Amino acid sequence: MEQKWFKDEIFHYEGLDYVEKKRRMINMQSLLLKKLSDYFLEEGFRWILPVITSKITDPLWPDPGSSIEKRIEFEIYGEKVRVTQSMIIHKIIVCSLFEQKIFTFSPNLRIERSERRNTGKHLYEFTQLDFEMRDSGSRDVMSFVERILKRLFKDLIESGIYRKEMECINEDWEIYDSNELENKFGKDWENLVSGRIDCPVWVVNIPREFYDYQDRITGRWDNYDLYLPDIGEVLSGSRREISYNRIIEKMFRDGVKTENFRILLELSREGKLKECAGAGIGIERLLAWITGEKDVSDVQIFPRIPGIVNYL
Ligand code: ASP
Ligand code: MG
Repeated sequence: MEQKWFKDEIFHYEGLDYVEKKRRMINMQSLLLKKLSDYFLEEGFRWILPVITSKITDPLWPDPGSSIEKRIEFEIYGEKVRVTQSMIIHKIIVCSLFEQKIFTFSPNLRIERSERRNTGKHLYEFTQLDFEMRDSGSRDVMSFVERILKRLFKDLIESGIYRKEMECINEDWEIYDSNELENKFGKDWENLVSGRIDCPVWVVNIPREFYDYQDRITGRWDNYDLYLPDIGEVLSGSRREISYNRIIEKMFRDGVKTENFRILLELSREGKLKECAGAGIGIERLLAWITGEKDVSDVQIFPRIPGIVNYL
């Protein structure tokens, strides 16, 4: 069999630079995870562990930003399960039934098309800091995210880790409507925005999955993404759709099978889903931005680049 080393070469590489770089990355990762989890705990969030397999996961459909070529599904104990693409449904349920504010560091498997191997931004396995807040709306989540990220940048600057763009802690981050960006940059706005900004910006009203709230009359989506200069989308989230009729209507519209979402649908029919909103922060992208890495796979110890399967 032909051997493919790709990024595995690190394990056969004696150059100190490479080893030093990975060690630096591990240290930064450790610092970042500590700071973020401290902030969330201080803000009253409960920390939950992730799920890896279940009958429901994020359909990632329809989502103009996603290019999933395969959903990993297999059988255990005679039942079909999927590997987590995001814990969105689990988050909504935990937040509605058990705890007001929750977060998790959730491994997500998204088999992106091989063409994305050269973007420097996509990974087929990554980790999200996924969180959800009950009785909250978009504005609450957006201001919470701005608060903790600004706190993070300030703390990093104080500990000697500096990027010019971190000075954005002193500004209000701008908000753009996705229609506005499409008119300005065309359909490819998602790829162009990050090259044109000096400060993080919010993008709102993005047409996508059934679980994001959409106003029935205006058709406007109550959701948001955060874009970082150079790196691109580092967070996405929304106020959630909790009305049974709306969820069903959108599932049919999108061709999403309802059977696996039985629990979510039952809870919504019984009025047990609470108003909530949340988002997920891509840890590798945030880390790449902080460390100034051009390729997000460089922050992974075991890189997961679309189209490239390594031995480790
Ligand atoms: N984490 C996202 C959310 O909370 C879902 C996603 O991964 O796209 O909406
Ligand atoms: Mg989504």
